[in-house]
Amino acid sequence: MQSVPPNGGIRMYHPQVDLSSLEILRQVLESGWIGLGPVTKQFEDELAHSAWIGKHPVAVNSGTAALHLALVVANVPEGCAIIVPANTFVSTAAVALQHRCRVVLADIERATGNIDLNSVREILDSEPNVGAVIAVHYSGIPCDIAGLDEISKKYGVPVIEDCAHAIGTVWEGRSMSESPHIQAYSFHATKALALGEGGCVTFNDRQSAERAKRLRRLGIDMRTRTWAKPYDIPELGFKYNMGDIAAAVGLGQLASLPDNLHKRWSIVQRYRERLAGTPVELVREAGGCDRTGGFAVPVLVKDRERVRKDLDAAGVESEIYFRPLGEFPLRASRATPVAELFSRDVICLPIHPLIRLDEVDYVCDRLSDSVMCA
Ligand SMILES: *Cc1c(COP(=O)(O)O)cnc(C)c1O
Repeated sequence: MQSVPPNGGIRMYHPQVDLSSLEILRQVLESGWIGLGPVTKQFEDELAHSAWIGKHPVAVNSGTAALHLALVVANVPEGCAIIVPANTFVSTAAVALQHRCRVVLADIERATGNIDLNSVREILDSEPNVGAVIAVHYSGIPCDIAGLDEISKKYGVPVIEDCAHAIGTVWEGRSMSESPHIQAYSFHATKALALGEGGCVTFNDRQSAERAKRLRRLGIDMRTRTWAKPYDIPELGFKYNMGDIAAAVGLGQLASLPDNLHKRWSIVQRYRERLAGTPVELVREAGGCDRTGGFAVPVLVKDRERVRKDLDAAGVESEIYFRPLGEFPLRASRATPVAELFSRDVICLPIHPLIRLDEVDYVCDRLSDSVMCA
């Protein structure tokens, strides 16, 4: 039995930065312009051609900014209620409060960790003033996008997808660019396309993307500029734009994205093969034509704290995604019992493009040993 982890320890994250970023970055630094400019435009053009991301991408400085901008461009009225799953990062709910709305928590499905559409329908049937639903593709496992679309049409409420984990996700055999909804992506240091900080919001129509491009930079509109009046502000926006330094890193990262996503998928499959038949409960896709993007590998276990300590003692890092939002001061009061149990039992295991399959095997062996001796 192996008792020392390979390389001395297995980390949760290790963003790999493509070295071609260095050359593009050097060109930006030498170009005489390092703000929002041509490289951000080039990054957006390349994002638009990648099937991993929605259409008409608008690059911003974080995934949180992307979510907030999505609410504004979807014309979600201030003062309404916004439905948010309890199993998500705080950003998903924080933007609703920032938009002066109330957060109503939807419960989740234990099998996928994703928003439970029955819970969403229950809220829509009982709450009079719902202005939007934000769904999260938890850990990269796709939500029921078609089911959400039906709900959106039936109740006349826009759906916004929090795609922070969903780069590389496939739903019903389709790429994320085929979703009918506005989507918000994060390029944070831990995410599959890591720029350090950054994000983008995507739309199905060009007009919305153009409006978002004005709103990301305070609403500044140069279309009618003259010598006397360099710009107008028809609608006040936010300071959310990406700049060319981040976009340069993004171009390099995009080049290695297909390879990185492929590695993530092999790692997910290896975890699933190795943990099948153990008491560890795998969190996974609902449909046979769905595929996780592999942002995280969530599993459910009994006696989670002890198991995490055993992993730690064996040199394996782990994370809890997520504490249920009901535990934070968001003034969101609805009970979400499935999310609470999920959060009590969940462990997210290490995954990043630099983990080798024998390291995955080591993690699985230590995890199996720990759950067996309960
Ligand atoms: C990371 C994350 C965000 C926010 O992204 P930032 O780029 O850090 O602002 C939003 N939602 C979820 C589910 C996330 O994991």
